[in-house]
Amino acid sequence: MKVAVIGGGWAGIAAAVELTAGGATTTLYEAGRVLGGRARAINIDARTLDNGQHILLGAYRDTLALMRQVGADPESAFDRRPLQVVDPGAFRLALPRWPAPLNVAWGLLAAEGVGWREKLSTAWWMQRIKARRFRLPRELSVAEWLDAAGQTGALRRHLWEPLCLAALNIPAERASAQVFANVLRDSLGSARREDTDLLLPSVDLGQLLPEPATGWLAANGATLRLGHRVANLAPLPHGIAVDGEIHDSAIVATAPQHAGQLWPALAAGFAYEPIVTVYVQFAATTGLAFPLRKQSGNYGQWVVDRGRGLLACVLSGHGAWEALGEAELVAALVAELALPTPPTWHKVICERRATFACRPNLTRPDHRTPDPRILRAGDYTWAEYPATLEGAVRSGRRAAHAVLGNDYNPAS
Ligand SMILES: Cc1cc2nc3c(=O)[nH]c(=O)nc-3n(C[C@H](O)[C@H](O)[C@H](O)COP(=O)(O)OP(=O)(O)OC[C@H]3O[C@@H](n4cnc5c(N)ncnc54)[C@H](O)[C@@H]3O)c2cc1C
Repeated sequence: MKVAVIGGGWAGIAAAVELTAGGATTTLYEAGRVLGGRARAINIDARTLDNGQHILLGAYRDTLALMRQVGADPESAFDRRPLQVVDPGAFRLALPRWPAPLNVAWGLLAAEGVGWREKLSTAWWMQRIKARRFRLPRELSVAEWLDAAGQTGALRRHLWEPLCLAALNIPAERASAQVFANVLRDSLGSARREDTDLLLPSVDLGQLLPEPATGWLAANGATLRLGHRVANLAPLPHGIAVDGEIHDSAIVATAPQHAGQLWPALAAGFAYEPIVTVYVQFAATTGLAFPLRKQSGNYGQWVVDRGRGLLACVLSGHGAWEALGEAELVAALVAELALPTPPTWHKVICERRATFACRPNLTRPDHRTPDPRILRAGDYTWAEYPATLEGAVRSGRRAAHAVLGNDYNPAS
């Protein structure tokens, strides 16, 4: 079976690896010079950086399985830590290394900056969500959900709203409560303690998956067409023509805004949200007490310690930062960091269409299309999750299994 995969982001990589492992003759077309798409390494000022700071969770089971499959080692590639949300001087929630759900219960009860009444009512609320199996009305926003649950205090300000913005890349007022609940179900609500862990990459995004996958695909007989932007996808009676080359099937694993350009039946009307990563270099001895810190100023939301004095400030979604010029934004973030020495270097990277806007009641297409020989993959097709690496990888594996005629179940 000859299969084309169009788009070499994490969804396309997952699809191509699964197809190749399943015995298909696979050609992966990627418009860029390297694989990785929205999660790739880039070279700037003689440094290798990520196109944007990414954070993974222990719950990313398919992603971790795929990394192992292509020879990457998640044990050394991540700084894995139990979840901590720290807002210096205002709030601290730190999960102990205890079995779930005791770790979450204790983390909540021991949280600093929250009164006892709120802790107990939140513990009760979380029990009720579990009992309802995290099912909510599709049209509900996260803000409406929290309002209805009486979650209006410190935990909302310091935990739920920041987690919603980080996970869904859209503020609680405009975010889908059901998708946020799915994220909570598979992380804080999971029966496996490891699922609640934070995975902070200690290598660049290229080394996490795209580079080992490039080597694995080449070594296992797949054809890689890097720097090839597919212009023409045509379903014909005897196969699918991809820029004139005939395949039995094709998986379109581009971002949604590009899929419709290839074949009108793939068009999907989404709005998008940006993510800005501002890298700031301080003296090599500068570091954060915990490598992920929540910020509560006007602009920065999270700061990640990338080691040797390099900090990555993350701004998710549309916001007040859009009114600032680049120099003003950097000055504001540096002031919010309040470190004793000034920075020596910075770089602002803005991904304007970082994620689709994960709003309530959003209709998400799955892998099926009107032609059974053409399938979709990509973060937007994994309806359970917001735009995430795990959603992208699962979508790619699901599409590959559909081509191979197998059932697909996420890794356990
Ligand atoms: C700055 C930023 C920060 C993020 N942070 C996180 C995070 O912390 N945690 C998390 O889980 N997720 C995060 N995400 C989301 C995550 O990166 C995406 O959900 C995921 O990378 C999407 O993968 P994909 O394969 O579905 O799509 P893409 O990565 O968009 O891949 C599509 C590929 O198709 C290629 N392509 C398009 N058209 C064609 C064509 N005609 N021919 C050939 N190739 C084509 C593109 O070049 C691209 O490589 C972040 C995203 C950004 C941008």
